[in-house]
Amino acid sequence: MNMSKESYITFLLKVIVPSVLLQLLFVQGAVAEKVEIPTPKRNLSIGYINKEIPKLTAGTWKGKRYEALVPDTLDLAERATLAIHGITNIQDPEYDYELFWLAEFNRIPPVMIHQTLGPPWLDGENYKLMESLALLRLITGSRLSLEIDQRWRERTLQQIGPDGLAYWPEKGRPWLSMDVPPGGWKPALGDTSQGQISTLGMSGRLIAAMTLYELQDQNPVWRQTIEKMINRLAELTVYKGNYGYLPAAAVAPGAEVPADFPEPSKGSWRYAQAWLIQGLTQYYRQTHHEPARDLAMKLTRYLMGPSENYDSDGAFVGMDHFHMNTQGVLAISDLALATGDRELAEFARKTYKYGKSIGDDLVGFFPEGLRYLNEDGSYEHKYRSVETAETCEVADMIVSGLKLADLGHDDCWDDVDRWLRNQFAENQMTYADWIYRLIDKEAVPAGSEPLPDRKKGEGRSLYSGRPIAMPINSPHENGDRVPERHIGTFAGWPSGNDFFYWDPETHGHLGAMHCCTGNGSRAIYYAWEHILDYRDETLRINLLLNRASPWADVDSYIPYEGQVDIKMKKTCNLEVRIPEWVKPEQTVCTVNGKRKEITFRGRYAQFGRVKKGDVAVTHFPIAERTVRTKIGGNDYTLVVKGNTVVFMDPPGKWCPLYQRDHYRGNQVRWVERERFVGEGALHW
Ligand SMILES: [Zn+2]
Repeated sequence: MNMSKESYITFLLKVIVPSVLLQLLFVQGAVAEKVEIPTPKRNLSIGYINKEIPKLTAGTWKGKRYEALVPDTLDLAERATLAIHGITNIQDPEYDYELFWLAEFNRIPPVMIHQTLGPPWLDGENYKLMESLALLRLITGSRLSLEIDQRWRERTLQQIGPDGLAYWPEKGRPWLSMDVPPGGWKPALGDTSQGQISTLGMSGRLIAAMTLYELQDQNPVWRQTIEKMINRLAELTVYKGNYGYLPAAAVAPGAEVPADFPEPSKGSWRYAQAWLIQGLTQYYRQTHHEPARDLAMKLTRYLMGPSENYDSDGAFVGMDHFHMNTQGVLAISDLALATGDRELAEFARKTYKYGKSIGDDLVGFFPEGLRYLNEDGSYEHKYRSVETAETCEVADMIVSGLKLADLGHDDCWDDVDRWLRNQFAENQMTYADWIYRLIDKEAVPAGSEPLPDRKKGEGRSLYSGRPIAMPINSPHENGDRVPERHIGTFAGWPSGNDFFYWDPETHGHLGAMHCCTGNGSRAIYYAWEHILDYRDETLRINLLLNRASPWADVDSYIPYEGQVDIKMKKTCNLEVRIPEWVKPEQTVCTVNGKRKEITFRGRYAQFGRVKKGDVAVTHFPIAERTVRTKIGGNDYTLVVKGNTVVFMDPPGKWCPLYQRDHYRGNQVRWVERERFVGEGALHW
């Protein structure tokens, strides 16, 4: 990182000092509380590898709840409540609350589907939602469907094999078959006739979930399980010089790896170890367990160089799936932050900058597929769609931006503010009645041959090619209230202006995939956590969004009005970062209604010391402007107020995004909300 002396001191303060302090967090961090857990359903015919597990009880976070009148503006706590609704509703209670990974909304009726992906992921998408649900409960204090938390914990321990890895069983789960590797991937290493398979990269997301379980449950079984798993992962890693790589996407129990095992061939599982790097980093941040850091470092050195995933300028050159690349950017920026390694921080900055250059930097649209310019000037799609932005890559860029902001790159706060308010917020499903209308009107775009009569149930599913009116294929599929159950989940294939993109010439899907819900819902936590931070008797407000906290409650009027109220709950210094469209001299600040002279440190307005009970207010101008731009290859006219898109033309066809006329009024609306303030803090 190219740093001035001052920013290096900031770096030391923000990274090194907190990381030392954070060692204590595992015992002093977010506080857990025991409550009564409803009895979960248990499927006794599933052939988990571990038959005997200790008795355990899921813990929950402790905190205070109260009602408050808050501005009806983007509220991440409200989004977290929605996401908990979505996450808990897309699980299958008949199969130990296993995720229906896929949904098809244009089937009659709409269905959710169990589907096993290729070995880099397999059923590891379940782990992402375990991590997210624990984090979202800390934002909201929600106790909805705690039986799921209970069964997920039991299932996790049932999945742990004698070698310490977590295995998905074939027996009792008919959507997984060892005979035919799903998606044509290479078979797993080792003896798969045991009917058990473990995905190495995805173990990182399970380590993350178990790290949170340890904090919630105070049960030492989690720490023991994590550390044994790390030992086995380190044993399976192939080491060369200062780097190491995973030998395969997946393994069977007891797999052995020869010392000179070749590097993985090019392809997406070369990238999958990024998940593991981040899980190891998260565990290291909480505990300072050195083997976690050492393995994360070795895998990172592989990702940064020998993998040839990125070139020396940080360009994504190994694979044209945006998300595969940015999961590495995210993992490396997180490890840089946890260790203070400046080379990693610089690498993360370069790759992030490249990611920004590929997407739409205003709304935060990052395409699922990269596109390459041919010599004759035409574009080539090497992989999938450049017209859609999976929530996965939008979330990766937001979280990487937050990590880089923590590393001292101040302008990343503005990036994150734009992307959160626009593509990210719009990618979350907040209502579902439109899904029922999909199957009525001419829902199949022109060009399908011949145009089917959907009233008679003709036509094919766009994802699977199966007839739209085919009977529900039990137990793989479920057609019970699928649209409503999806409220709070995140879009898999949104375009710039719609929840879906579908074009007969290329492709697209009228449904959802819940990798995106896993990554989107987790990003809510990261963004919520970063809205403010309290350190050294100073409360710093980084993002002007609604937020309750132990130090102050923040009410943001943006984009109705250029105003933010900070209701102090503790006497301390206060700094407020003003948004990018505001000049410092345009800012007017008051405390308890009296004008307050302020100075600026960078973009932070310095209030100095404010007292418990004070209301500190920042006012600044906010206005609309018109922007003409191309997003995902299509032309749009946007009206943008501050950083918020309040109008988009043309509108989408299925579920148009940016239906935000109300934001064009210049007087804030208020809404009654329950606020929750958890005890302690969790830096994730
Ligand atoms: Zn996704």
